[in-house]
Amino acid sequence: TASGSGRFGGVLEQIGSEVAALTDRGRPADYIPLLAGADPGRFGMAVAEPDGTVYGVNDWQEPFSTQSITKVFALALVLASEGEEIWRRVGREPSGNPFNSLVQLEYENGVPRNPFINAGALVVTDRLQTLTGNAAGRVRDLLREESGNPAVDFVAEVADSEAAHGDRNAALAHFMASYGNIANPVPELLAAYFRQCSIAASCQDLASAAGFLARRGVRADGSMLLTPSQAKRVNAVMLTCGTYDAAGEFAYRVGLPGKSGVGGGIVAVVPGVCTLCVWSPGLDRRGNSVAGVWALDRFTTLTGLSVF
Ligand code: GLN
Repeated sequence: TASGSGRFGGVLEQIGSEVAALTDRGRPADYIPLLAGADPGRFGMAVAEPDGTVYGVNDWQEPFSTQSITKVFALALVLASEGEEIWRRVGREPSGNPFNSLVQLEYENGVPRNPFINAGALVVTDRLQTLTGNAAGRVRDLLREESGNPAVDFVAEVADSEAAHGDRNAALAHFMASYGNIANPVPELLAAYFRQCSIAASCQDLASAAGFLARRGVRADGSMLLTPSQAKRVNAVMLTCGTYDAAGEFAYRVGLPGKSGVGGGIVAVVPGVCTLCVWSPGLDRRGNSVAGVWALDRFTTLTGLSVF
């Protein structure tokens, strides 16, 4: 469905035109060289309703680097596979530290604060790798199935670019391994994690793919991925931890569970109502998209929707 239609079409049109006036858009992530060249002027936004209807504005069909947004899907797969077991190895408290921080691990015996910072996501991907032998492939397949777009795929150049500058993630993984909290060989885990992060998808794809979080765990085909309780819990962890050390500010401004990535995307959920994805590559100093947070703030302000 094109922009302008559907229940939220007017709101999307308004946001899509207002965003042009936003002057300070932040800067693309530069620690992954292949992301550094992205244009902060790009902006897309999509809304998917629980019945699968999806519409959007501006660059909503343009694939971008999903990065940490994939952490939600990896966690969902692990919860779907073995329930609450993963919480022995990763916490669910906001970290208050940057997404790639090491500091807290030493005080908490190699158990990361939550599954949405890099350390926690490495633990989740490690578990998914043990359970399936193909963690990144499973995350990609879930995105394909839930979005209905078989073109969603890894971008080898992005994975390679990140691997070539991956000392911080390697340090996190080795440090946790020293506490016995990583089961796979670290190089294998890092390869899976970088592949998972390299997946390219559009706002349209991601708003659709996250639909199970607005449908109490029910997948696009009507089968169940998560129990209603698990879906509620994933949303809760997104709200408290999904935007790193800006999760408090994000809850204050947007009032929705959300998960960002350094590619400039953010997925957000209005349980029972819709899922959203915004994309604009310019980031603030916490690694969240400036125009993306702004657009979600506008959306919840204009519609009055929020989990509060
Ligand atoms: N692949 C990125 C990293 O590990 C993901 C970080 C992010 O999107 N915040 O550094």
